[in-house]
Amino acid sequence: MATPPRSGVPLAWPEQPGDLPRQFTSRDSLERELKQLFPQAEGGLSPIEGGRRRAEELLTRIQPQRYGKGRNFLDGPVTRLSPYIRHGVLTLAEVRDAVFRRTRERQSSEKLINELGWRDYWQRLWRQLGDGIWHDQEALKTGHASNSYASDLPDDIATGSTGLACMDGFIAELHSSGWLHNHARMWLASYLVHWRRLRWQVGARWFLQHLLDGDPASNNLSWQWVASSFSHKPYIFNRSNLERYSGGRFCSACCLRDRGCPFEASYEDLDSRLFQR
Ligand SMILES: Cc1cc2nc3c(=O)[nH]c(=O)nc-3n(C[C@H](O)[C@H](O)[C@H](O)COP(=O)(O)OP(=O)(O)OC[C@H]3O[C@@H](n4cnc5c(N)ncnc54)[C@H](O)[C@@H]3O)c2cc1C
Repeated sequence: MATPPRSGVPLAWPEQPGDLPRQFTSRDSLERELKQLFPQAEGGLSPIEGGRRRAEELLTRIQPQRYGKGRNFLDGPVTRLSPYIRHGVLTLAEVRDAVFRRTRERQSSEKLINELGWRDYWQRLWRQLGDGIWHDQEALKTGHASNSYASDLPDDIATGSTGLACMDGFIAELHSSGWLHNHARMWLASYLVHWRRLRWQVGARWFLQHLLDGDPASNNLSWQWVASSFSHKPYIFNRSNLERYSGGRFCSACCLRDRGCPFEASYEDLDSRLFQR
């Protein structure tokens, strides 16, 4: 226990070393404090607000009926609840109950409940595997040896300057907001592992440095699913898939729009280009 202040010593209890201030009068004062504490950090606060009040607000906006058909579109009706679930602001059971409150027939909320199930499943696997989630769960199905994948994150990816409007857009969003839509995570992960031939662990570590919902279980096991060390085949996509689910907003502004897009091909062609079967 700390000793009481003697006369002549300020009455306020000193903060313990390592304590960070917790009360702020506004987001601006939080931002100012962070800038002072971490002068090397680039950019400002994420636009995603924390806290229980904001989480409850988002809970009232979930659209379980529309979710199933629309969830793969970047502007689709996803909940954006992951940072709150990740940090324990909301429990999965609370989200489940909110979903059921907003649905007449249970079947129509099936897809969203399924996704909550994935989160639960990954957490349970983590408990079982521990740090094993950092290792390949199975052999890759790409035909490439796992030691043929690179171990360093290339600069153009770290800085979001690959020249591909889609990938640079996702990286900029990851840096500025700390959140990405699931489909964008899949595309970006697939690009890193299959087009750039990076070890999935490199990408997983990089995501965890930036995601506000960064969670080793959901993250690493999803990277392994993309890489094919935890699924029966590697996940790839092509331009038409990305264009459709992103509403074409990246391709129309991309310098490689007319020539040189690495995703412009059929799945069969990409498969033979990227993998050794
Ligand atoms: C490469 C990659 C890395 C990922 N890393 C993370 C991570 O670090 N942390 C994380 O929480 N999720 C991760 N995910 C899963 C998923 O992308 C996010 O949970 C989801 O995009 C969060 O947005 P949302 O809250 O709008 O999800 P919604 O689609 O609205 O789903 C509701 C909730 O269900 C859970 N959920 C949804 N999809 C998944 C999924 N595929 N796996 C596990 N749980 C899911 C989340 O808790 C989410 O908040 C990753 C996916 C990929 C492909």
